[in-house]
Amino acid sequence: MFVTLCQQDHRPSRIETERFDVADIQDLAFDPLCIRIEGEDTEAVNHALQTIRAHRPWSLKPVFTAMPGDEVTRALHDGVCQSDQQALALARDIETLAQSVNGLEDAGHQDQRLLRFMFTRPGKQLQPVKDWRHADVYSYPLLECFVDPGEKTGEWRTRLLRRGLLQEHELYDRLRLCGSCSSPHLNYVDVCPNCGDIHIESKKFIHCFTCGHVAPQEAFTSDGILACPKCLSALKHIGSDYDRPLESFLCSACEQRFAEPEVVASCLQCGDTAKPDELVVRPVASCQLTEAGRLMARGDDFMGLFYSVENLKFQRPQVFLHMLDWQISITRRYPDNHFALVGIRITNAGQLAEALGHVSSMKLVELFIRLLSEYMRDADISMRDQEYRVWFLMPHADASDGEGFLARVERLCEQSADAEGNRLQIQSCGLFAPADLEDGENAELLLARAGGLLQ
Ligand SMILES: [Zn+2]
Ligand SMILES: [Zn+2]
Ligand SMILES: [Zn+2]
Repeated sequence: MFVTLCQQDHRPSRIETERFDVADIQDLAFDPLCIRIEGEDTEAVNHALQTIRAHRPWSLKPVFTAMPGDEVTRALHDGVCQSDQQALALARDIETLAQSVNGLEDAGHQDQRLLRFMFTRPGKQLQPVKDWRHADVYSYPLLECFVDPGEKTGEWRTRLLRRGLLQEHELYDRLRLCGSCSSPHLNYVDVCPNCGDIHIESKKFIHCFTCGHVAPQEAFTSDGILACPKCLSALKHIGSDYDRPLESFLCSACEQRFAEPEVVASCLQCGDTAKPDELVVRPVASCQLTEAGRLMARGDDFMGLFYSVENLKFQRPQVFLHMLDWQISITRRYPDNHFALVGIRITNAGQLAEALGHVSSMKLVELFIRLLSEYMRDADISMRDQEYRVWFLMPHADASDGEGFLARVERLCEQSADAEGNRLQIQSCGLFAPADLEDGENAELLLARAGGLLQ
């Protein structure tokens, strides 16, 4: 197997190894742009991929393989490349996207590691890989490599979903888990419904009509004829002398007869038992990055928006809502006070990404949003609550100020057109207080109503 460390404008460095190890790269004097793994043995290639993804300084590096491999390979690599040149070209796309998430260095925290990885690989999904040896039966290889020490990948993934940073995409399977330890490794045992004992036997029973005695069939046979062991009457005709009761199981612990045994799920990990309908049901699905996840990838809790682009007058949503509430209360008290709330949404990001590629379309969007902030007046503040949606709060602005601003923004969009005519398309809305303010409306409601105008 060969592991090639590709550098810009330098000869690549090739490591030949049976089994790739961190020791192979520990004392490296340079920082490669990307890595290409060539090997026939999928298991060895996957081991190299896992080693690189788990090696913190290299976790987010573009890594390519020469063969498509299996589902673990696909979960961890960045694609198949037949040459170092091809790998370098694809790596540069990832590098360009990485500029808006503060690079590909390790951020020191599992959330940022994963979000940055997914942000710089648009369309990448976390696919579950089935493995009966795995404690969770389904594993997410990337999460296994990225998880911080002492954390559990299942709980981590659930947390990311609950926080809205990831969302489930395609359903693969549904697991039932132990209620006390969440293990899916369960054994379903049939037991006595009366005492819960496992020693139950399937038997044929006979019910004597004369005395009402019920017992297993063998108790009724003596000397080759069927006779009741209690009242000794001969049982000749089924239906008139005897019949077979519905019960067909006997518990040897409590001697109870029953028709259906009870099924209990016993956990192979912690030994807990539960009825099947008491088990925790967990869907197994692929996951993708959400809008909130993409914003979070740019920095911790929206902070990246302040630092990634200089002089951007973006506020955190909480601050923006607070300022908007403040303007609303001033306007209610002093109707002379007016302000404008302007929203702008880029509507064709998807088409642009298809026409220009993810990298160029994202550059275009980021440039546009940076220029927008230059059109703002000193007292205006703005907030970006979605990747393609920005809000402006303009104190003391009236409808003509707002329309003037939107006219300039529209010109900016027209100027964004390239030779092929690809350009940003936007949708905008402006609400002007006090005229457009409804009774009892606060910042949150006003913003929600304005958001509806941008659908
Ligand atoms: Zn009898
Ligand atoms: Zn029993
Ligand atoms: Zn358990």
